[in-house]
Amino acid sequence: MSDVFHQALAQTLPMLEEIRDGIKPPPRASGKALRKLLKEVSSHGASAPQLVEGSADAESSAVWTWDALEQVIKGCEKCPHLVRSRTQVVFGVGNREADLMFVGEAPGADEDEQGEPFIGRAGQLLTKIIEAMEFSREDIFIANVLKCRPDMPEGESGNRKPRPAEMATCLPWLREQIKLVQPKAIVALGATAAEGLLGETRPMRELRGRWLAFGEVPVMVTYHPAYLLRNQAITEKRKVWEDMLLVLKKLNLPISAKQERYFTQPTK
Ligand code: SF4
Repeated sequence: MSDVFHQALAQTLPMLEEIRDGIKPPPRASGKALRKLLKEVSSHGASAPQLVEGSADAESSAVWTWDALEQVIKGCEKCPHLVRSRTQVVFGVGNREADLMFVGEAPGADEDEQGEPFIGRAGQLLTKIIEAMEFSREDIFIANVLKCRPDMPEGESGNRKPRPAEMATCLPWLREQIKLVQPKAIVALGATAAEGLLGETRPMRELRGRWLAFGEVPVMVTYHPAYLLRNQAITEKRKVWEDMLLVLKKLNLPISAKQERYFTQPTK
């Protein structure tokens, strides 16, 4: 088998074994890749699971369940250097049927330690933004492009930006999460998240305030909350808020006069 095929098999095997053992129902639709993998499982001693015919000839990959996806991502070892340095994989958190997803670049030290994205100071500001939109954090699904904390040189603390190659390696996991959530909109937080998610390298001033897309899902790029912690200018807060107003409009949610005015004048 090729390395690529070996890797695909390793990623899909836990789910296939659950189907084989009757723990999970077989997927409704299975593409050619899945048929090939099932054959491979069978040839390695397992009895072939029964497939439910759907769009069997479609080139779609396996249909993940949340449990299977979480299990596989949490055991992912595609980046050996990050496997060595991470405390744990930060899978993502929130409503798995959310209309809105927030996507950041990677876990920091706090997130790596606690296993949840956006829980440090920037995360607390993100929660305030979410609440200003009249959501609760539990209404949203929050994840990162990179699911493991970027490693730091020996003896150095702090966080580093994920490398494009690291994000490209991990992006298939986020893609599967987006396929399961089926959000009506995604907010990409910061230029690095925009690069990892969309391949966009344009400066933030050219990315924010307009709709881009990940497949068929509309994506609004805005500043990372950490940027707002560094730059407290009301004009910058207003830019982020204007992006969130566009998100609320996209979701067909009402916007109060008070919400329209946020950050247009100094707060008392
Ligand atoms: S960063 Fe993503 S692809 Fe790399 S080991 Fe972690 S979960 Fe796997």
